[in-house]
Amino acid sequence: MKKITIAIDGFSSCGKSTMAKDLAKEIGYVYVDTGAMYRAVTLYALRHHLLQADGGIDEERLRQEMDRIHITFRFNADAGRPDTYLNGECVEQEIRSLEVSKYVSPVAALPFVRETMVSQQQAMGREKGVVMDGRDVGTLVFPDAELKVFVTASPQVRARRRYDELKAKGMPADFDEVLRNVEERDYIDSHREVSPLRKAADAIELDNGEMTIAEQKEWLMRLFRKAAQC
Ligand code: C5P
Repeated sequence: MKKITIAIDGFSSCGKSTMAKDLAKEIGYVYVDTGAMYRAVTLYALRHHLLQADGGIDEERLRQEMDRIHITFRFNADAGRPDTYLNGECVEQEIRSLEVSKYVSPVAALPFVRETMVSQQQAMGREKGVVMDGRDVGTLVFPDAELKVFVTASPQVRARRRYDELKAKGMPADFDEVLRNVEERDYIDSHREVSPLRKAADAIELDNGEMTIAEQKEWLMRLFRKAAQC
């Protein structure tokens, strides 16, 4: 079986990471969560006071700081997935907070942030054998990926999943606030000038609103076997 590149794109909180992470584990591929990379940049900007409460971003300073932001992943055997590290510090938990979620889409819309992240992602997937999830993996990062999936579900379903996830981690959460955040991120991600979220022409669409994780996994494994064999 040849090694291929798998791109899983779609709206926020639609279970892309769970899907991508499980698939990577099952088939022995490297999993890259590109959203975590944009979240880590956002956390860095928050810690260095480059983001204002009114949504303003100190773009010039962030641009200057970009080469001081080093994002890496290290496999966490207990969790069965890679943890995200920002300049050597594990920030896996912190980057999932609602505060980071509030600021991440405007940060991810900045062209110089995207340029830096996309070239790092391309380097990570150069050898193939990678499952990468995000918004523009199938359209921009790896337009030649052998398998592209575009995942959707209604904003309510996605907000409920995100809310349950935050609660399960013991993090503060309010359903209406989570729903607002999901809708705001959808809007920004779909309307930004640089690589807006859209389905690649050759991506296979999956609406997983009514699917269990097990059903989704089976569906994806079938696609993988087909794509890796030809
Ligand atoms: O996937 P996740 O929801 O963690 O991503 C956080 C945010 O990062 C998204 O809402 C989106 O604004 C941004 N993002 C992006 N391009 C990617 C991955 C994530 O713009 N490839």
